[in-house]
Amino acid sequence: MALLQIQPRPVDPSVDHEIQAIVAGDSTAETCATDLAVGPWDFDRRPGYGPGSSMGDVIPTGAPRQGELPAAYRVASEEELHARITAAKATLGERVVVLGHFYQREEVVAHADYVGDSFQLANAALGQPQAEAIVFCGVHFMAETADLLSRPDQAVILPNLAAGCSMADMASIDDVEDCWEQLADIYGPLDAPDDDGLVPVIPVTYMNSSAAIKGFVGRHGGIVCTSSNAKTVLEWAFARGRRVLFFPDQHLGRNTAKAMGVPLEQMPMWNPRKPLGGASEEDLADARVILWHGFCSVHRRFTVDQIERARAEHPGVRVIVHPECPMAVVDAADEAGSTDYIRKAIAAATEPTVFAVGTEINLVQRLAAQYPQHEIFCLDPVVCPCSTMYRIHPGYLAWVLEELVAGRVVNRIEVPGDVAEPARLALERMLAAKP
Ligand code: SF4
Repeated sequence: MALLQIQPRPVDPSVDHEIQAIVAGDSTAETCATDLAVGPWDFDRRPGYGPGSSMGDVIPTGAPRQGELPAAYRVASEEELHARITAAKATLGERVVVLGHFYQREEVVAHADYVGDSFQLANAALGQPQAEAIVFCGVHFMAETADLLSRPDQAVILPNLAAGCSMADMASIDDVEDCWEQLADIYGPLDAPDDDGLVPVIPVTYMNSSAAIKGFVGRHGGIVCTSSNAKTVLEWAFARGRRVLFFPDQHLGRNTAKAMGVPLEQMPMWNPRKPLGGASEEDLADARVILWHGFCSVHRRFTVDQIERARAEHPGVRVIVHPECPMAVVDAADEAGSTDYIRKAIAAATEPTVFAVGTEINLVQRLAAQYPQHEIFCLDPVVCPCSTMYRIHPGYLAWVLEELVAGRVVNRIEVPGDVAEPARLALERMLAAKP
């Protein structure tokens, strides 16, 4: 095959710069939400506790609320905020560690001590025993996981409490408890093993779920998975149960189980708004994997049409997508894998290559800047970052760090003990699960 001729070119990794240019009319590109060009304090009218805040749900009574971000942080320029964050971090030294998710905006990631996926970052926090505060630049469930894995005296801080995850919000604890009761009506006692030693259902939750859901799973003999280890975790579950209840992401569940040979007919969907989840008793009796009706609003934007267009416009393009994408997209792509897989695949390419990537645009743009010898672009032509992750604006990061300098902890995320104990158990089962 002839080598591609790609001219190395500088790429601005900042998605924010691109959105600002679109809104100002200086770019012909398109964005899905011009609101993102303003500070999150302008469009986030109800800053409050994470779960629910991205879905318009009622904020739980007594949940912590953050005060209004002081005006000084709202009006400061990008350069001023950068200087203030840098200075606060220098003053705090090893007393603070800043974690930045792969999907976080570049102006925030620039200050991160560690950049990774949610589980890599929670583990990175474990390696920082000297840190009194862990500032998690990600979304609410990630900060909860860091709190579960860190020492009780370490404060985990989410710079903007309204940074939730719409997918995590799709599996509320009440709906999951209700589903569990209905499944018990169908299958009988859910903790009673049959003659083969298998219980009727093992609950499996994706890392992208609230601590309450991880606690539920821990209490009911279940386990947590990530997009990297979902197959290993499903094997673990099938060794203990007849079937799996998988939430919140239907796509990760379907894509993983399908690759393991589970027929689609044995993967009914559970829609919490319908009796019996909208499935029939026969479907549930036959089920191997019951898929919760949840999805990631970012990854469901990717389509087979986009892949076909990329192939038509870039012969030889390598298409890699995240397994949170719909099944048809994963099937049409050349490869599918976690954010870490995507990053490593690009890093390992020794020849100039065109990559079309189906995941969040902040990561894609950063990779494009990092590897100018390749041509790397997002499959979705519309600039559409994860809007909840985007709520971590540098203004919030500067605020929480300067509050720490002043001796005050704001926006601390603490998982209650009765939830934390079983949730840790579910995480420990994941760590112990071997391929
Ligand atoms: S990218 Fe999707 S799954 Fe990840 S935080 Fe955003 S909404 Fe949640």
